[in-house]
Amino acid sequence: MKYRLSQPEISENEISAVAEVMRTEFFGMGKQVATFEEKLESFFGRKTLCVSTGTAAVQLGLVAADIQPGDEVLVPSLTYVATYQAISATGAVPVSCEVYRHSLQIDLEDAQKRITSKTKAIVPVYFAGATNCLDLVAEFGKTNNLRVVADAAHAFGSKHKGELVGSFGDISCFSFDGIKNITSGEGGCIVTNDKVALNKIKDTRLLGVIGDSEKRKNRERSWDFDVESQGWRFHMSDIFAAIGIVQLTKLETNSKKRQELFNKYVTNLKGNSRLTLFDWDTASGMVPHIFVLRIPGLKDRDALRLKLENLGVATGVHYKPNHLLKFYKTPYKLPITEALYPEILTLPLHTRLSQSDIDDICEIFENAVDTFF
Ligand SMILES: *Cc1c(COP(=O)(O)O)cnc(C)c1O
Repeated sequence: MKYRLSQPEISENEISAVAEVMRTEFFGMGKQVATFEEKLESFFGRKTLCVSTGTAAVQLGLVAADIQPGDEVLVPSLTYVATYQAISATGAVPVSCEVYRHSLQIDLEDAQKRITSKTKAIVPVYFAGATNCLDLVAEFGKTNNLRVVADAAHAFGSKHKGELVGSFGDISCFSFDGIKNITSGEGGCIVTNDKVALNKIKDTRLLGVIGDSEKRKNRERSWDFDVESQGWRFHMSDIFAAIGIVQLTKLETNSKKRQELFNKYVTNLKGNSRLTLFDWDTASGMVPHIFVLRIPGLKDRDALRLKLENLGVATGVHYKPNHLLKFYKTPYKLPITEALYPEILTLPLHTRLSQSDIDDICEIFENAVDTFF
């Protein structure tokens, strides 16, 4: 494939950082995790806890917000299934909501209709790194007495009105998986200033063993311990943290690059009347994680994808709506989401691409689209 859909950017620095940890023959949650957390804390200006994946971050974020089995959690259907699995893993019920057709962010008028006495939280997804809904969701949470546990997996480094996503608000959950804005191989983190939540996450990420999480960083552990609640083995390994530490130093350069490539797409494609671009703007500080657009009236998206693949351009579909999956099937329809789904397409966006690659991709793409009408 000439143009991959997404790609991590790994240099010798990450490779030697991993090699160094391997030589210590200590792979648990130790000094590297402590250092990564310190660096993330000065980045966000807030307490940050690292965990094994972004999915685990959302799950523990919900647990820390005291979401209980049987509670209902509002969530847009148009998200990765990870968001849903994280919610249902707590025993809570994900309640599928619409997205706004112009921004793909959770539709709050629709969410409002789905509130019951069991609704305890809302999980907004900052789709593509955009934050159009952020202020309104915070207000919505306050008005309806709901916790806001954000799935910010796409939004590491994104700013909202000049402020870093995660540096304000209730609980923000990030992912460092292989293709996110920064990677630690696998990993994630939770950012909040809620002390109760932080204390809970510290123990639940390490099997609920009280106080062990802190000791591990000094290569100690508890042999005589107690457990008061359900926990999981969701801590981060030093191997992964070592990668994350290096990646964080590249964030500024790579964020700028993502913004420039995104803007190149917008410049190239905005005049094409067959296409609809979403209401996202890097001028607000958004760091685009993926480039998604809509092709209204497209009859056979999969055939278009196959054609593009044969021409060397990998594409994606973000995402199959969760309320259409067997496990999360709703008795109601979500007409906006269902109408969007067959018409959305994701084009390559990652830091290994150049401006002229985007020109090339756009030319191939626009020519291919024309043959579908
Ligand atoms: C990547 C992603 C996750 C999950 O993160 P992992 O680190 O892969 O577990 C959750 N939600 C969204 C929207 C994502 O893109």
